[in-house]
Amino acid sequence: MGRIQVMSEALANQIAAGEVVERPASCVKELVENSLDAEARHIGVTLEDGGITRIQVQDDGVGMDADDLLLATARHATSKIRQPRDLTRIQTLGFRGEALASIAAVARVRMASRPHASELGMQVEVAASQLVSGPRPVGMPPGTVVDVRDLFYNTPARLKYLRTVQTEQARCLEVLQRAALARPDVAFRCETGGRVLWQTSGDGNPLSVMAALFGAGEAKQLLHATRRTADYAVEAWIGRPTQARSTRAHGHLFVNRRPIRNLAIHQAVASAFGQRLMTGRHPVYVLYLEMDPALVDVNVHPHKAEVRFSEERDLAALVQRVVRQALDEAFLVPSIRMAP
Ligand code: ADP
Ligand code: MG
Repeated sequence: MGRIQVMSEALANQIAAGEVVERPASCVKELVENSLDAEARHIGVTLEDGGITRIQVQDDGVGMDADDLLLATARHATSKIRQPRDLTRIQTLGFRGEALASIAAVARVRMASRPHASELGMQVEVAASQLVSGPRPVGMPPGTVVDVRDLFYNTPARLKYLRTVQTEQARCLEVLQRAALARPDVAFRCETGGRVLWQTSGDGNPLSVMAALFGAGEAKQLLHATRRTADYAVEAWIGRPTQARSTRAHGHLFVNRRPIRNLAIHQAVASAFGQRLMTGRHPVYVLYLEMDPALVDVNVHPHKAEVRFSEERDLAALVQRVVRQALDEAFLVPSIRMAP
């Protein structure tokens, strides 16, 4: 007999999971993206021990019936694409059908869901890729609850690699803040230790999200600028130099309502501040860019937020002009008004 064997599904899932769920924050990101893809208007997230002990994401999206619930944690199972040509026009945040399979391979997952047309929800429990219970009926409001407990309980090597509860929690909160800023039209609630840390109203106004996240006082000071060109729409809220921070984490960039990272754009904002920023200080900003999806490649890496722009230099120059003009106006206008 040969030495080669095809892996069991559970083992293959566990290995694949390493790619998708690195830490609690990546799990939070995947679950929230699923809620957004399900067209949720309200998303509630509860964390325990920085998400290591528990991550619960509750939404009022379209829900799943019993068949879908059972398939949702299977690998390569997705409702978002059906054929190769769908790959060229993806509108959803997910489409690989790997997230729930990966999470369910390395945690204990309880999932309950109720489509809006159903009277009752259905619930399943899956641990280490095995169905543990269900599907059985449960009373619940329409939508979906995914409850992930004991992340990496069956992969001690990964568990050991996690940082402190505070660090893991900070990373989860960062993911949630970026999701809330990306989608001011969706109400987010973030809880830990029985306490609501923050919540957004879903009123569609980015500034009310900023007020919820950064505090009303900080939000009120931000400078606002908009610009529309043939290719791009830019809307920016820019912190005054006095609001600058000691890390780069307070610069937020969104392209077509997705949180992304791009060094060239960040540097464009920073250079617009020029001498106005002390060394070691980084600008606070929330920058929304809208453009034809053909001008941006979001799939540089499946699980990373980096993107590539086809006209990166033009875009960076535009961003720099918008930010510089907003700063110039804020700091020059009063003296011009005083002139005779
Ligand atoms: P993907 O998002 O790439 O399709 P996932 O593993 O994240 O893969 O989810 C698998 C499928 O489960 C999704 O395609 C979707 O049909 C369903 N699903 C997951 N989460 C939700 C949710 N919160 N509400 C409704 N359906 C969901
Ligand atoms: Mg997904």
